[in-house]
Amino acid sequence: SNIIALVGRPNVGKSTLFNRLLQKREAIVDSVAGVTRDRHYGKSDWNGIDFTVIDTGGYVVGSEDIFEEEIRKQVELAVDEASAIIFLVDVTEGITDMDKEVSNLLRKTDKPVFLVVNKVDNAMLETEAMEFYSLGIEKYYTISGMTGSGTGDLLDDIVATFKEDNYVDPFEGLPRITIAGRPNVGKSTLTNALLENERNIVTNIAGTTRDSIETLYEKFGYKFVLIDTAGMRKKTKVNENLEFYSVMRSIRSIEDSDVVILMIDATLGWEKQDMNILFLAQKYRKGVVIVVNKWDLVGKETNTLKYFENFIKEKIAPFTDVPIIFTSAVTKQRVYKTVETAMKVYENRSRRIKTSKLNEIMLPIIESTPPPSIKGKYIKIKYCTQLPTRTPQFAFFANLPQYIKEPYKRFIENKLRQNFELTGVPIEIYFRQK
Ligand code: GDP
Repeated sequence: SNIIALVGRPNVGKSTLFNRLLQKREAIVDSVAGVTRDRHYGKSDWNGIDFTVIDTGGYVVGSEDIFEEEIRKQVELAVDEASAIIFLVDVTEGITDMDKEVSNLLRKTDKPVFLVVNKVDNAMLETEAMEFYSLGIEKYYTISGMTGSGTGDLLDDIVATFKEDNYVDPFEGLPRITIAGRPNVGKSTLTNALLENERNIVTNIAGTTRDSIETLYEKFGYKFVLIDTAGMRKKTKVNENLEFYSVMRSIRSIEDSDVVILMIDATLGWEKQDMNILFLAQKYRKGVVIVVNKWDLVGKETNTLKYFENFIKEKIAPFTDVPIIFTSAVTKQRVYKTVETAMKVYENRSRRIKTSKLNEIMLPIIESTPPPSIKGKYIKIKYCTQLPTRTPQFAFFANLPQYIKEPYKRFIENKLRQNFELTGVPIEIYFRQK
């Protein structure tokens, strides 16, 4: 996918431009609890060409303070990850030493760099902005992030550099699975276990615009694509950047897939980062399988597995209808089961339930347990249907949908899950006016 990275000192107006580039589109990941950095990541399109914007400042710890080291990391991230780089400077500040540093770093890349002078709100400032030509960056633009002037021309020229967007995905239409999890949980070991003795492996090694290595598996009677972003880490030279690289990569690979295998380490339990991955998967409505790896290291007594399972379910509530598998990637215990389960979840996520069947099952349930009446008004649900969306979403039509509260919604969700196979799949329920 095409990625535009924003680079620049604090206060030059990166967030304003970021929001402009997204064009009021829903910042897709803005409200995921516990994930703050993905506010700096969003999707949009221009002239029909899709792109992702990253405010790299948002991924660099301490980048709100002006530290040369942090700016250097920002630039490295941009250079590694982006298809095009916007280097934002501020006309009201003039050229700073930091701007010179950054342009020196950026001159070394062969990716297109757009020098964008911000806060050029009038003609006089237009003249002042010209001093930035001296930074020696060819693609020069002036904009006002506040009013939006100049951003259209800028976008025209940026998307024109996305030449490889006629890229045809050779794996189009196949299930896409990603293994996500903290470093060292065993993602690579599982990937390698899957690779073993395999002849039908086609790896689509990244061209310049691909973010991840995609591997086609024809195995165990299934055909699917494994998205491996972890493997791309080798490419970068900067180890200290690992944390924000991995945050960003998880976001991207989750977004790219149908099913997320969330791998946790049995010896460490469930941590905040695991929760973040789960939230992201739910937010993007991806299928989820939880894999508890390194199970070989856990001393087992009679109820260990059950205990662990309950422990996780408590953590992930209310979305507990998720398969949990206990594996050892090293001994290959339940590697097959993991794939089988992920494919089952894929199937569940694509499930289309006939309206007649849905009503036949759900209406009697609703009839015997209707939504509680409010202020003496009876709430009647007359009809329901699955929406024509790519993932399971349902509309229930009622006389007074606005009075139906969260607990009843949860009740309906549970009944849907009990009656139709939706395990591992986040679902959405809407109450609408008949
Ligand atoms: P990644 O960072 O998630 O890709 O983790 P790796 O696959 O590189 O694994 C990290 C370490 O854990 C390696 O030393 C693996 O050999 C080890 N490891 C991975 N899976 C298992 C497992 O199921 N059992 C045990 N005992 N060790 C494992």
